[in-house]
Amino acid sequence: MTATQNANAAGKMPVVFVGHGSPENAIMENAFTRRLEQLGRDLPRPQAILVVSAHWLTHGTYVTGMARPRTIHDFYGFPQEMYALSYPSPGAPEYAERVRELITTTGVGWDLSWGLDHGAWTVLRRMYPEADIPVFQLSIDYDQPPAYHYALAQELAPLRKEGVLILGSGNITHNLRVTDYPHLDAPPRAWAVAFDERVKAALLHRDHATLIHYQSWGDVTDLAVSADDRYSPVLQGLSPQEWGRVANLAVPTNDHYLPMLYAAGLQEEGDAVEFVYEGFHYGTLSMRCFQIG
Ligand code: ZN
Repeated sequence: MTATQNANAAGKMPVVFVGHGSPENAIMENAFTRRLEQLGRDLPRPQAILVVSAHWLTHGTYVTGMARPRTIHDFYGFPQEMYALSYPSPGAPEYAERVRELITTTGVGWDLSWGLDHGAWTVLRRMYPEADIPVFQLSIDYDQPPAYHYALAQELAPLRKEGVLILGSGNITHNLRVTDYPHLDAPPRAWAVAFDERVKAALLHRDHATLIHYQSWGDVTDLAVSADDRYSPVLQGLSPQEWGRVANLAVPTNDHYLPMLYAAGLQEEGDAVEFVYEGFHYGTLSMRCFQIG
């Protein structure tokens, strides 16, 4: 089979963002993990998978070039069986080289030491349990602002026509200081719902400026432009000050938010957005997943 036969009518692979939540989703059975398993069956089969994970933050941008990426157990205090899991997919050095050609606005370092962090493998284990599709990762340059990542993603667009599934893995809301762990189905906090709904609305309306400038949602001047009641009842009635508080609670650091901007940055004319999973874990983690194209 070729990439062209497998991709959508436009000859492009879809782009996916997954809210990955706890590493334990690698072994738990819940509505979210079942949905990931279905998603893996529904998507066109990729030639390779490029993951942009919340858990690989670097100074500068790197791509993994090893032929056999190791499984990284980058979490602490979880059940022992979690540390015995591995995801033995091959790497994709030839596609990694292609990424270095495509990204011209910055140099992309060649990494041979990382591997697959849990933002990648806990998700892929559900989507592609056979681990037979080559996987590689692109790091997040954590010195750069949101707009930089959104723009960088656009340089990756040709990969979609070359059979590569680009997968952002993070969480739209992520504040571990106030999580209701281990209560998976705890009622979601109002601020988490409000933030997640506004992101959803911006995605549906292709209002990417709102996604990029989430840190300005509390600014009076910005709000006049972007806080639009047409979106959703949940979004009505919050003052600028409240929006500032909501954004600070939902995204105290943006490591888990930025992978979503990579997915949004790859949305092209004619690409629909489909929310493949919506909901919250532990009352505060948005598990929203979406597919573009
Ligand atoms: Zn995470």
